[in-house]
Amino acid sequence: MGRPRLTQQQRARIAQTRQARRLRQAEQPVDQPSVEVATQLGRVVVRYGQTVVVDAAGESMLCTLRQHLDGIACGDHVRWQATEVGKGVVVGIEPRTTVLSRPAFNGQEKPLAANITQLIVVLAVKPKVAGYLLDQYLIVAAQLQIRAVICLNKADLLTPDQQAGFRARFAHYVQLGHAVIQVSCKQPGGLQPLRTLLAEHTSILVGQSGVGKSSLINALSSQSATLEGELSAATGLGRHTTSASTLYRLASGGELIDSPGVRSFRLGKLTRHMLEQGYPELSALLGHCRFNDCQHDSEPGCVVQTSLADGTVHPERLASFQHMVERLD
Ligand code: GDP
Repeated sequence: MGRPRLTQQQRARIAQTRQARRLRQAEQPVDQPSVEVATQLGRVVVRYGQTVVVDAAGESMLCTLRQHLDGIACGDHVRWQATEVGKGVVVGIEPRTTVLSRPAFNGQEKPLAANITQLIVVLAVKPKVAGYLLDQYLIVAAQLQIRAVICLNKADLLTPDQQAGFRARFAHYVQLGHAVIQVSCKQPGGLQPLRTLLAEHTSILVGQSGVGKSSLINALSSQSATLEGELSAATGLGRHTTSASTLYRLASGGELIDSPGVRSFRLGKLTRHMLEQGYPELSALLGHCRFNDCQHDSEPGCVVQTSLADGTVHPERLASFQHMVERLD
């Protein structure tokens, strides 16, 4: 059968539709430059909804996001194209080395910070160190395969003897390969040990409420080129609010990513693999006891008990491990 013959009216309508399509394709929305525009690399330093500030070789570019890039996070290395002076559009994300996410309402993961290389767990003598929180943060660091630093803040509240005592409580973490430092926001030069460890890393600060995370971040970032005002000037969104994730380039070297979501980040669903990664000194022993069902209590031939006796395993780590085993699905 031959092709159906079209009426003059039908042919005219087809021609009209084609012409409209051609016009649509020729149109370029202001924030969507054509593919010929050069693509450049940069790093997301602030994410505020669908607007990001990209650091491009030291210059801040206010960018919108292509629709498919909704998962972009502070710290992401991105490709962007200029649309006008100081403005652009982000067109792609470079592969991430790490991403810290939390579950969102829709059951998917919401990325909070990308390409972090170091987790700083802040503890203080006041408020009292909460249960097994430190070990939970160390599980997160092990999962991301990044360095963890245990930062004891508020040293000024303790005498030198008490400071030594407080540090000694965490000495077994040094044996596990973690750095333990003592700092103070209220003493001149009190943050130097932290500044040194932050250099050459992209870090986040985590810890329970009241330990001094905001104070530390304020003190550390005050000398950095702040982005406050830039966003508000360009978007009319008002002062850069505390809800925006921000990456600070520190004057003393390194970068710090901060947002309320990052500061209050907690360990989510725990799997056996995560647990074993988080307790390397114990996972190396598991399965080596004489009895398969060993409870590591007082059974003969228990390698965990032997390691407790010789100091390879700390009793508090064993207690927290056993507590965490109960959290497993
Ligand atoms: P966050 O909840 O972890 O962000 O803690 P904040 O930064 O809000 O600090 C909680 C309280 O501890 C505030 O009253 C701070 O002034 C105080 N604080 C923070 N750092 C220090 C410190 O190094 N020494 C002392 N004495 N107080 C501190």
